[in-house]
Amino acid sequence: MSDGLNQVDPGEGAPVFERVVLIGLGLIGSSLARALRVHNIARRIVAVDTSLDVCQAVDRLHLADETQSDAALAVRGADLVVLCVPLGAYEAIAQQIGPHLAPGAIVSDVGSVKEVATNVLVQNLPAHVQVVPGHPIAGTEHSGPEAGFAKLFEGRWCILTPPDGTDEAAVERVAEMWRRCGSMIERMDAPHHDKVLAITSHLPHLIAYTIVGTAADLAEDAKAEVIKFSASGFRDFTRIAASDPTMWRDVFLNNREATLEMLQRFTEDLTALQKAIRRGDGETLHRMFTRTRGIRRSIIDARQA
Ligand code: NAP
Repeated sequence: MSDGLNQVDPGEGAPVFERVVLIGLGLIGSSLARALRVHNIARRIVAVDTSLDVCQAVDRLHLADETQSDAALAVRGADLVVLCVPLGAYEAIAQQIGPHLAPGAIVSDVGSVKEVATNVLVQNLPAHVQVVPGHPIAGTEHSGPEAGFAKLFEGRWCILTPPDGTDEAAVERVAEMWRRCGSMIERMDAPHHDKVLAITSHLPHLIAYTIVGTAADLAEDAKAEVIKFSASGFRDFTRIAASDPTMWRDVFLNNREATLEMLQRFTEDLTALQKAIRRGDGETLHRMFTRTRGIRRSIIDARQA
């Protein structure tokens, strides 16, 4: 569903926002702070985090013009607030900041699940606020402000899921922020986003957590050998399974149906492969592996490898 939002690339022009408040300065929030600065997107960047260590790191790394521990105070006068926290923290934050947001202020986020995120924000924020949820399809297995970097979003998609009736000018300003961070923009409805991400991101993480968990349950001597001879297959899974536990717990709790549906399909396909191995059906195995090789090729061609 392309919507023409990728057409303009104005380069580093005047700031898009006056006062941007980032709530949560972990990997994504601190990367966004850096990108806002590098590309002159915000006149003033305000960082909010509940963790004193994170606030100190933000100051040390000069990631923001101002660091606050109280979100309600920080959002006063903001024209954009971006939630960069795990999904489980959304409701309390929305209730805390709602009464202090100026009419016309935009509230966005970077959460990996969009239907629940959108509903929580719309239901807990005043009607005079524009809600423009977003999800940068970019990340690493690392967490915290030291792990962030300004180029994280370059060449990556950012999906926006504004609910019906959102002011188009607000959507365009958020799109413009991400374009200046180097992202390409796609617009979708939130349930569709959650289905697509269930297969492209959430299920692969679940599989990685399972495989690495299975290895962890092996007897001590076998486990030592798994680590010693860890070939790229297992090694790649351990990288994914090192992702933040709080973030991923919240992803599965908030994208339950789509993940369970994809898991069901995956289980059926896995059973078919199991049957082929048991029957010595090399033709089925070869056909399946040839088809998946093609998908890898398409990802490389789309420059998303
Ligand atoms: P992260 O590195 O763990 O950072 C989250 C930060 O938010 C932490 O500093 C955390 O502090 C802080 N925080 C938690 N609750 C808060 C609250 N109520 N008020 C203020 N700060 C609070 O996580 P992340 O990887 O940046 O992920 C943040 C969001 O981005 C998630 O919703 C995730 O779904 C989304 N996302 C992540 C990725 C990825 O690859 N990591 C990619 C795309 C989108 P404490 O450490 O003290 O809790």
